[in-house]
Amino acid sequence: MTAAPAQGHVEHSMVIVGGGLAGATAAASLRADGFAGAITIVTEEAELPYQRPPLSKGFLAGKEGEEALYPYPAQWYEDHSVELVTADPATGVDPAGHTVTLASGRTLHYAKLLLATGASPRVIPLPGLELDGVHYFRTKADSEGLKALLSAGGHKLVLIGSGWIGMEIAATARELGNEVTLLGLEDVPLSAAIGTELGKVFMDRHLEAGVQFRLPASAASINGADGGSAGKVASVTTSTGETIPADLVVVAVGVVPNTALAQAAGLAISNGIEVNAHLQTSAPDIFAAGDVANALHPATGAHARSEHWANAIAGGKVAARSMLGMNAVLSDIPYFYTDQFDLGMEYSGYGALAKDAELVVRGSLESREFIAFWLREGKVVAGMNVNVWDVQDSIKALIHSGRTVDTRRLADPAVALEAI
Ligand SMILES: Cc1cc2nc3c(=O)[nH]c(=O)nc-3n(C[C@H](O)[C@H](O)[C@H](O)COP(=O)(O)OP(=O)(O)OC[C@H]3O[C@@H](n4cnc5c(N)ncnc54)[C@H](O)[C@@H]3O)c2cc1C
Repeated sequence: MTAAPAQGHVEHSMVIVGGGLAGATAAASLRADGFAGAITIVTEEAELPYQRPPLSKGFLAGKEGEEALYPYPAQWYEDHSVELVTADPATGVDPAGHTVTLASGRTLHYAKLLLATGASPRVIPLPGLELDGVHYFRTKADSEGLKALLSAGGHKLVLIGSGWIGMEIAATARELGNEVTLLGLEDVPLSAAIGTELGKVFMDRHLEAGVQFRLPASAASINGADGGSAGKVASVTTSTGETIPADLVVVAVGVVPNTALAQAAGLAISNGIEVNAHLQTSAPDIFAAGDVANALHPATGAHARSEHWANAIAGGKVAARSMLGMNAVLSDIPYFYTDQFDLGMEYSGYGALAKDAELVVRGSLESREFIAFWLREGKVVAGMNVNVWDVQDSIKALIHSGRTVDTRRLADPAVALEAI
């Protein structure tokens, strides 16, 4: 998996730490933008760089194979002289000396460094986390492990956390014939992200498929067969005192950005690695992109960290250009998507601005084919299409335009979005 190292020209070396989508995209962008020097991707996983969305959907369901995970096949790295160092995490960065140290003891010199270290599942203090049958869910190995269990059906799965990942795993597990119960802190799942009314659309679809919810409820303990915290998991006790039988538990209560390396190197940290709109950290030759980067967004004037696929791609490209001195700016309107049962959804916009904003729906929530818009002072700040396709460009154009819209026309499916 390792192409010929080309560390000879130290001053031309680009080092990327993190083999996720942001890291892989940055390497491809460096080459696409004409960079001919050495590129090294360092990653702690023993994998080709891969993307994560299929892990909780098609890959977990067994409908998609490994090829759905890799943005670039192994041959691509060979062909483009990108050295891949796998299963060898970076353990130290020296911004003054321009070096990265790896767990193996190897030292890499860089002209520019990209930190694309992503995020890790949040660990909550909970009795019973070490029981056999308790899982976290972030990596290909996590998905493969759970797939091996769920694919036969008949398991009793309790999901702690009813966010996007929890809801996607619930849908896939249920489709595979397992009993699924979700615990979440909100009255309606996903309501913190998209509001109660729209969260209910997803919840109702899950209920229809037989997924059970305990809301609002957290887990008080995960219990073994003898009620203790050794051996195989047997149940989960909720904060409301209910004990739910379980032979599998997935803890999906959000992620925390992997900032340890950056922090130890003395970089500015605030909810991630703090970067400007060029994705440059407080050290001029070090950049950060993807889930780990808390980036200044020119449209809002605020820093925000995005944990989504499109941000990893856009950030990887901008970081690469900034590393090449091309003065790139991350100004894309944030975008993400989800698939749960037969609900396909895309969302574009500024989540923080959409909170408590005016909601306008085009189509009907009951039909599960609609576009929801969030407006502030008559201007669209976010839009979400559910089972309606090829409208993202129009939604983004409306947001981008910043113009005041007629909400009656916006809600009317007979009026073309381009004519609003
Ligand atoms: C199950 C799942 C489903 C998702 N589904 C969707 C979806 O439907 N839509 C959507 O928009 N987004 C989705 N996301 C989010 C999306 O996948 C992430 O935003 C994206 O993976 C972020 O990419 P990244 O490159 O920043 O980080 P990551 O993909 O986390 O990659 C970071 C890599 O860096 C490595 N690393 C960390 N520290 C070091 C170190 N010190 N040295 C070397 N390597 C290191 C990590 O091991 C990891 O391999 C999903 C995420 C998950 C987990």
